[in-house]
Amino acid sequence: MNTLFVRRNTLLAIISILFLSVLSGCTSGAQSETSDEKAQRPIMVQGPMPIEAEKFAERLENVKEEKSGSFVFYIGTVDDYPVIVAKTGKGMENTAAATAVAIERYNPIAIINQGTSGGHDPNLNVFDIVLGERTVNIGSMKTADKDENEGMNPTDWIPMDLMASEGSAGEDPDAEKIRYFEGDKDLLAAANAVKDTYSEGKVVEGTIGSADLWNNEVDRINWFHENYGTSVEEMEGAAGAQIAKEYDVPYLGIRILSNNKVNDGQYNPDTAASNQEYVYEVVKEYISEMTAE
Ligand code: SAH
Repeated sequence: MNTLFVRRNTLLAIISILFLSVLSGCTSGAQSETSDEKAQRPIMVQGPMPIEAEKFAERLENVKEEKSGSFVFYIGTVDDYPVIVAKTGKGMENTAAATAVAIERYNPIAIINQGTSGGHDPNLNVFDIVLGERTVNIGSMKTADKDENEGMNPTDWIPMDLMASEGSAGEDPDAEKIRYFEGDKDLLAAANAVKDTYSEGKVVEGTIGSADLWNNEVDRINWFHENYGTSVEEMEGAAGAQIAKEYDVPYLGIRILSNNKVNDGQYNPDTAASNQEYVYEVVKEYISEMTAE
């Protein structure tokens, strides 16, 4: 009886040791899988409209498609490195939401927001490309204090930095300033490194202004150019930049001019494809820099 008891205990001990070692084997396996995944965090390329995303998506290899709400994610590879193209839809809200969903779902190592834009700088022509050294929300403003019948005057409006504090932006004088989101240095370096591959216009660093707004008043465009230093305007960049900053993910806006009201540059939708060709080169360069480290 006693011997049997001892034997049974020994057997149980052996089984537990075996079980534990199998378990710890599994854990270390899972750990190395996680660090592999970390080394392969995808690069995310965002485009708002079909013409601004699908050209890049076509160049991906091993593509599979996933959706979240109306956002479409084309999950594939470039040079054997994971790259996801996100068709976000137009505007600030879509972009902010698509960025947050993508970060939570795919844990990207970097985000490039790209597409078309309207020129604010008279020296920039349709087909020129602006690398967003800075991105700024040009719709975030506080109006002047006026009573009934005192009218409205947009040139008196002042910038409102919604990220200045958690308190009321309307009351906080610290919030009366322009909030710029800095473009990521490594992404900028990769973009500058392949500048010469682009032959349809020039590639410059500049300031991208964003709002759910299409400005067609040249005086207003000039006002932004002078007061905010904007090179171009579009409807997405600053929204993605804000979310990327909140999650601490490297981010860069890359925008081609599809129109420029200040120098009569007529809208040309073909610019969307040209920008994606260039951004494809940027992504390849970024991958080669990252994997060489
Ligand atoms: N030409 C189309 C434009 C689509 S809406 C139309 O009139 O319906 C605007 C989209 O193009 C947005 O995704 C925005 O980022 C970009 N865009 C290009 N030029 C712009 C401009 N001058 N102002 C604002 N957005 C612009």
